Amino acid sequence: MDILDIKGIGPKKGALFNKLGIYDTKDLLTYYPRAYEEFKAPKRVKDINVGENASVILKIKKVLDIKKIRSLVIVSTVAVDEMDNPIKLVWFNCAFLRSTLKPGETYVFKGKVSNDGALKKIEHPAIFEIYEYKKLINVKQPVYALTKGLDLKTVRKAVEEAFAVEKLDLEYMPESIRNKYDLVDLNTALKLIHFPANDDDLSKGYKRLIFDEFFIFIMATRRLKSLNEDIDSDMVIDEFKEVDNVISNLEFTLTNAQLKAWEDIKRDLSSGKVMNRLVQGDVGCGKTVIAELALMSVVMKGYQGALMAPTEVLATQHYEGFSELINKIGLDIKLELLTGSITQAQKKKIYERLKNGEIDILIGTHALFQEKVEYKNLALVITDEQHRFGVKQREALGNKGGKPHVLVMSATPIPRTLAIILYGELSVSNIDEMPSNRIPIKNCVVDTSYRPNAYKFINNQIKEGRQAYIICPMVEESEGLELENVKDYAKKLKEIYPPSVNIDILHGKMKPKQKDEIMKAFVEGEINILVSTTVVEVGVNVPNASVMMIENAERFGLASLHQLRGRVGRGKYQSYCIFMNTSDSKTAKERLDILNGSNDGFVIANKDLKLRGQGDMFGTRQSGEMYFKLGDIIENSDILLMAVELSEEYMKNISKVNNGRLFENEFEKQAFMQKVEKQIKTCIETICL
Ligand code: ADP
Ligand code: MG
Repeated sequence: MDILDIKGIGPKKGALFNKLGIYDTKDLLTYYPRAYEEFKAPKRVKDINVGENASVILKIKKVLDIKKIRSLVIVSTVAVDEMDNPIKLVWFNCAFLRSTLKPGETYVFKGKVSNDGALKKIEHPAIFEIYEYKKLINVKQPVYALTKGLDLKTVRKAVEEAFAVEKLDLEYMPESIRNKYDLVDLNTALKLIHFPANDDDLSKGYKRLIFDEFFIFIMATRRLKSLNEDIDSDMVIDEFKEVDNVISNLEFTLTNAQLKAWEDIKRDLSSGKVMNRLVQGDVGCGKTVIAELALMSVVMKGYQGALMAPTEVLATQHYEGFSELINKIGLDIKLELLTGSITQAQKKKIYERLKNGEIDILIGTHALFQEKVEYKNLALVITDEQHRFGVKQREALGNKGGKPHVLVMSATPIPRTLAIILYGELSVSNIDEMPSNRIPIKNCVVDTSYRPNAYKFINNQIKEGRQAYIICPMVEESEGLELENVKDYAKKLKEIYPPSVNIDILHGKMKPKQKDEIMKAFVEGEINILVSTTVVEVGVNVPNASVMMIENAERFGLASLHQLRGRVGRGKYQSYCIFMNTSDSKTAKERLDILNGSNDGFVIANKDLKLRGQGDMFGTRQSGEMYFKLGDIIENSDILLMAVELSEEYMKNISKVNNGRLFENEFEKQAFMQKVEKQIKTCIETICL
């Protein structure tokens, strides 16, 4: 059902929902909350603290004051609680409140407490009738990511309405399977995610949805595997002498793990089959040089290679680093950089030279594989971070039957068994060893009282010439969420630090070009402190950055936190990671302590993660890590294993027609398969380039 058919949503609001990627009721129901708001019992004025998000029952004494400053209309008043203790309330551009909030009436006001001279103050408090508020106490209310012009109440109402009107029949999994894995049905799961009565509800909802994510994903990788397997290659690379010489001319000695990965690649390239390999290793373990060796080896044999990175900044870094290496060792290899931001004329020239073989190795972003790009004889495609290469892409590139070898490089450090599940279609090389010259990162988990010290510490690092990252979970202030946001945080920092300290921001709502400019300025050392969301997670190398501070650290998945931390400790300086824990839950602390105790991603992932999170670790995940909207492969590894089991059963059952173990009858099986196949197809499309 179209979003516009929901009561209360007209074209104007509809457009705002569209902006969030919501077009119909199904989109809306799968627009998962980022967190849950809890309404606590109201307090008295004397019991609330500055900085707290509090609710207070207050009596309005007189008609609200109104003041106009330029285009800003400010209404305010001083209201009192039952002990007659005063507090100031302020709203902006809400003149209508003067007629709604009547003198003598009592309401509940909820918002963040600050100081106003001797008084306490709440800016823009939410207003509730007392009976209305009572109903909300201790019920979890969903909090959604919003866009300007769309408030939380509207989205909540729309979701409620969608549940009311949508005849929910999303379930595709037979009851027998659900019973086996103790899964609630899909329709219920969605309801529980949006409107859970308690943490138990939430866990049940999450379990089902995460199970589905994992299951479909695993099926997709297996499908890819069957399509990719054992393809003969007519681009056999079997001569590595020159490239092996390069290794002895590097300014460092390769680690044993690097050497082993390189041996794996050589074996693949010379096998006569098309290579499909994943090289995974912790951030900073040195995957780039392995990619470079592989690319050089195909060029030595007269072929072309391509290296794709997810961002322009990273592509440019690869290009510059690789050029330097080639110049230093004096090899005759022609590199070129192709990104979205070069001019059309320049692109055209590159296409020309690529087609007639004047370019040996092309480095860039997605632009590398657009239709117009034609290679003369591409033998190797390497994707750095994030991207898989689908069958279709491979076919589109292959010239006259020749299909390029594929190497995927990923920094998500997961145990080998997990890697084989998640990258089912690829052979895996693990680089599980760090170069010996690394200085281990020093970690600490602290609470907010440590903030002033942290700022001082960062300032000292800046004085020594270093740079810092500060990560916040949100882009801007969000109703109902007491989480740090990039925009306000940067403003606050600018008040704390002297103007000589250059502070800037980075987040996913910026245009790619803008993001690249900011990243470039940070790489070049023009920005001292970069306040960012998790977008900074992927692959960038700024060896001069020595501090990573993560606000609301308890809100992130462990895999994500580890990945973020990997942005520092890449150079010759001692680096530090400060995990700011703003939760008082024991589980949150225990989770963070795992990171505190180890810098090794494989160790972290292998830890016995019996710490199943309480409600407090749900939501806000959205890091984009590993393709999952809700699941965290480390923390939900138990669910992952169940999904693996089902995928194995599923395949068996399909080959041995109807042996009746999972399904009641053939009809049920066919119906299930049909729906699963459809989802697999969509999944393959999203995980491949
Ligand atoms: P990642 O695996 O995260 O992509 P990089 O390939 O960017 O890591 O390597 C990080 C840094 O380590 C680079 O500056 C690289 O030159 C350096 N490096 C790579 N291998 C070694 C090694 N064996 N010894 C010392 N430094 C190395
Ligand atoms: Mg890298």
